Amino acid sequence: QAATETAALAATLAEPADPLAFTATPCPLGALLDTAARDYPDRPAIDFLGRGLIWREVARQADAAAAGLQAIGVGKGVCVGLCLPNTPYAVIMYFAVLKAGGTVVNFNPLYTERELANQVADSGTRIMVTLDIALIHDKIAKLAREGRFDHVIVCSMADALPPMKSLLFRAFKSKTLATVSNEAPYLRFARLIGGAATPRPVAIDPEQDVAVLQYTGGTTGVPKAAMLTHANITANIQQVLATNTMIERGAERIVCVLPLFHVFAMTAVMDFGVAIGAEIILLPRLDMKQLMATIARKRPTMLPGVPTLFAAICNAAGTGQDFSFIRFCMSGGAPMSLEGMERFRHLSGSPILEGYGLSETSVVTTTPPDRVKIGSVGRALPGTIIEIRDPEPPHAILPQGARGEICVRGPQVMRGYFNRPDEAAKTFIDGALRTGDIGYLDEEGYLFIVDRIKDLILCGGYNVYPRVIEEAAYQHPAVQEAIAIGIPDEYRGQAPKLFVTLRKDVSATEAEILAFLNSHLNRIEIPKAVEIRETLPKTMVGKLSKKELVAEEAAKAAQR
Ligand code: AMP
Repeated sequence: QAATETAALAATLAEPADPLAFTATPCPLGALLDTAARDYPDRPAIDFLGRGLIWREVARQADAAAAGLQAIGVGKGVCVGLCLPNTPYAVIMYFAVLKAGGTVVNFNPLYTERELANQVADSGTRIMVTLDIALIHDKIAKLAREGRFDHVIVCSMADALPPMKSLLFRAFKSKTLATVSNEAPYLRFARLIGGAATPRPVAIDPEQDVAVLQYTGGTTGVPKAAMLTHANITANIQQVLATNTMIERGAERIVCVLPLFHVFAMTAVMDFGVAIGAEIILLPRLDMKQLMATIARKRPTMLPGVPTLFAAICNAAGTGQDFSFIRFCMSGGAPMSLEGMERFRHLSGSPILEGYGLSETSVVTTTPPDRVKIGSVGRALPGTIIEIRDPEPPHAILPQGARGEICVRGPQVMRGYFNRPDEAAKTFIDGALRTGDIGYLDEEGYLFIVDRIKDLILCGGYNVYPRVIEEAAYQHPAVQEAIAIGIPDEYRGQAPKLFVTLRKDVSATEAEILAFLNSHLNRIEIPKAVEIRETLPKTMVGKLSKKELVAEEAAKAAQR
């Protein structure tokens, strides 16, 4: 059965489907790696800080690790946590878990101990994969001492590095290496892959079996896991491929600084990269000097990022930095300002293609490379239906052009939330997933995102969209990043406040920025205050994050 499914998947990957008559072929996700290893065995698969692995080797290690996982009890319905930064292990262990028949639970390695403990308990994770870096391993070891895990698989950072870097790492950075016990529950990666070469075949039901539990706050803010099935993710890859026929299989190079535990990098970089046999160039953290050097060394053809990353590249790039080899820049995860797009295009000569998605859906829309509409996140992927609905009950479908809540149907939409039917019930209307985002569709089906419902500022009876204020702020030549939020206001209920950071070497005062906004916004949108900061809060993927500023302002108001 597995062989037939692999063949079916290979066929759909080889022939880009006709977007008009699109039906996804549900497949086990692990088959993607078999296909890459079969079609591109000796081509580069992963580059990690200069150390390369070819597809044959990645598949060999994933198969051996899958067999090792089965030996410690991993099979259908068993959750395996991955608490790893971007390293080759993040790719190898992801596919190993899937091939063993288990479910991947993505953990953010920078979570606090409490956040980790909550997610471990909520998902029922008893097997955890981690790295021997003190910052990560110490937190996992503490939970292990509390008896939370049956097995902890520890990967070696030094083994993943090229020989010279590995020596230096061991010699000079020993403080960053955690001491790992040899006793249970610890099992080193090298031991895990030392047994059988291949796992026992597992009959996966792609439509039902959950490949990944992806934690998110969703629209209600309560942390919960979106259940993404094998079919959800493989369909999404087929959908993206069907819209971009300019991809060259076996020849693209994708630089990946976005963390693989987030849905954007997991699907649009890792799964997609494996499906097209691209070389995946992994960076373990965002270090602009390292990123710019990697771009110069590896000459990537694809550069996916969140908007703040493209802004940071504009700031860091020296004159004459070459970007001519980049064929596709993909921005997603957060709104890209028009100014930011233009600035990056000016620097690199390459337009940014936008994608819109959520943990619950992976990718929903992309900009067709041959018809970019500035300001739009593109069109629904084939097989996807976008409905714009009234955010208020009974959530009627609104006519084309009207603003409302973006709701999504398609093969990529999650099965539900793990163990939380109540949250899922709030999230689906007539089977369509509510995204919590407000937007509209133009006459050609291009989606424009206006804002998130929960970020709307309710100001004296009017809806003020923070994004309008942020867009205006980005037009000021000194503004690098901008966040507008609603703060408590005695008369109007809420009033807008703007926080900004400034570009390198350009100065401006708060009063100057406010004066600029006075001439660019209507009266109700003009911020009550502008505050310049050194940095703005960001989520772990680098999206600008409002909740810290909202909490800060609420605390200030409470003291008054
Ligand atoms: P997450 O589940 O963490 O990936 O967050 C999903 C949310 O990110 C969406 O509901 C949107 O609010 C936002 N988002 C994702 N992609 C875009 C985009 N291209 N433009 C604007 N907002 C986006």
